[in-house]
Amino acid sequence: YQDEVKAEEYLDELEFLAYTAGGEVLKRFVQKMEKPNPKTFIGTGKLQDVKNFVEENDVGVVIFDDELSPAQQKNIQKELDCKVLDRTNLILDIFAQRAQTSNASTQVELAQYQYLLPRLAGMWTHLERQRGGIGMRGPGETEIETDRRIVRDRIALLKDKLKKIDRQMGVQRGNRGALVRVALVGYTNVGKSTLMNVISKSDVFAENKLFATLDTTVRKVVIGNLPFLLTDTVGFIRKLPTQLVESFKSTLDEVREADLLLHVVDISHPSFEHHIDSVDKILEEIGSADKPTIMVFNKIDAYEAEEIEEDDLMTEKTKAHYTLEEWKQTWMAKLNGDAIFISALNKENFSEFRKLVYEKVKEIHTTRFPYNS
Ligand code: GDP
Repeated sequence: YQDEVKAEEYLDELEFLAYTAGGEVLKRFVQKMEKPNPKTFIGTGKLQDVKNFVEENDVGVVIFDDELSPAQQKNIQKELDCKVLDRTNLILDIFAQRAQTSNASTQVELAQYQYLLPRLAGMWTHLERQRGGIGMRGPGETEIETDRRIVRDRIALLKDKLKKIDRQMGVQRGNRGALVRVALVGYTNVGKSTLMNVISKSDVFAENKLFATLDTTVRKVVIGNLPFLLTDTVGFIRKLPTQLVESFKSTLDEVREADLLLHVVDISHPSFEHHIDSVDKILEEIGSADKPTIMVFNKIDAYEAEEIEEDDLMTEKTKAHYTLEEWKQTWMAKLNGDAIFISALNKENFSEFRKLVYEKVKEIHTTRFPYNS
């Protein structure tokens, strides 16, 4: 049962990703297997089901939640006779659509090529095996070798370009002086941009889609005469392609160089605990796990608590109206770092939130300028 719930949650997210990329999901298929079929990922019977559905409904794209091997992708595509994507493809596609600055599009393009390169290699091994792999120099191989060289050249070029951008951004960061730096981190769609808007009274693009924020925005914020810099970062997501983590270096540098992290959590989401884990994992990967952190539990207006009805054993979800004191008694308040419970939308508990941020920034500021304060 647990596995089924998990599968549904994963597919909810995949559906949301597909919607973000501009697609409409007609049907979901789930299959429980010991291990994936090496040729077609799913079993032959299931593949036939999918094929029938694709034909009957004139489906354009079939998306898999897991990463497919190049051979699997090819085999499935041949069988279904339509476009086949995996989760990484989809995420890269969304990033490509939403990249607005040359920095962002360069980072996405690099990630796309890095995703492609081993796949070209994979296709090559595949061919080699088919032909017996002994001393053949067929046209196919030359073609792939040429492709690989083109891709490698392009990767080198993009890396060069990014290095220049990185240096520029490093200089820009350096120019910001000694102000305390605060970075918003969190899973995608938790309300980071909304929070940024409310804190800095600015107008950052917020919408109910995944990855609305691709480029970092930096704002100078003043709370009680204390100025600091607030950065919005790209939303993290489960199974974020490693190519992306790497190529979004300059974006993640904002996190790396921050003095304080505001880890925003969408508490109304059924899998928010998994989201926290995913974000922590990425923070660890970029060496930022030990930074001072405030856990910001957002969307308390939409939080539904599970309650066991007295007359039957069914659990029911009802809107919870906790006071801040009650929130502070929950297990969430006892996670790493300080915790605050807010609604960025309704500005609930906002003065307490501001106060907490102020205190933390002040602490950092005081250690940095012990004689000024
Ligand atoms: P980001 O991807 O983390 O930057 O998230 P956004 O700021 O773009 O917000 C994602 C969605 O959540 C938007 O539809 C917001 O209106 C909504 N949202 C943000 N904060 C709250 C909140 O406190 N309560 C509710 N109910 N929705 C919120």
